[in-house]
Amino acid sequence: AQGRSAEATDAYLESKLSHPEYAADPSLARGQERAKDAGMPEIAVSAMQGQMLSVIAKGMGAEKVLEIGTLAGYSTSFLAKALPSHGQIDTIEFSPVHAKVSQQNFLDTDLFPFPTVHVGAALDVLRDPSGAFASPPGTEQGLPLEKRGYDLVFIDADKENYFEYWIEALRLTRKGGVIILDNAVRGGRIVSEENDQPDIDVTGLRKVYDWVEQDAGKTVLMSGIQTVGAKAWDGFAIAVKL
Ligand code: SAM
Repeated sequence: AQGRSAEATDAYLESKLSHPEYAADPSLARGQERAKDAGMPEIAVSAMQGQMLSVIAKGMGAEKVLEIGTLAGYSTSFLAKALPSHGQIDTIEFSPVHAKVSQQNFLDTDLFPFPTVHVGAALDVLRDPSGAFASPPGTEQGLPLEKRGYDLVFIDADKENYFEYWIEALRLTRKGGVIILDNAVRGGRIVSEENDQPDIDVTGLRKVYDWVEQDAGKTVLMSGIQTVGAKAWDGFAIAVKL
């Protein structure tokens, strides 16, 4: 219909639904400007997508959150805002420049809990045997269920490692915890390769979906949702660890 567009609909939803403490918090817009000024790519989640992360985190009572791919901390801030003050949020970022801008943004937004930014290639950070994400000996038996892992993991870094991030996220998430993958559709390219070259943007994602298919519902319950609008044709996949 005339005059209708996915972008205008996004703007409408944002104007109606932005919560004063979440998407409408002016420090978040300042953070986006700071990122732009630093020459960073404009690839953060949209305001409503960020607020959706807040809804999920708050709705499930998440206290411990892990994010892979910080950028300037826009999505991190939505997640942190949804946590109780005794919560914990870890986020992993390869670029020291991005990590630095994110820290400035977290200070500006006055986040509490304050996110811990782990700087490095996410797989190295996640697999460092002496690092923050190593499974302590006896974890499975020794710790109460709620302390065994993250309540929520948000995967939003380089697409080529998505399958490896998925496996690490499964390891680090508690039973009943939720794993969200951004960019889970990539304009429908998950369905078919456009040319003979492997498309590294979707090969990892396809491996995730193949894994879920083969799991046949034993480990996870997952859904994939397509999105349009400010972020164009893409989507989220969301799973709960059974
Ligand atoms: N989650 C952010 C948001 O919505 O505000 C957006 C993250 S952006 C799409 C992806 C980020 O992942 C970039 O900042 C990029 O530098 C980072 N990245 C890329 N490869 C990485 C890697 N191997 N390890 C960690 N971070 C990586």
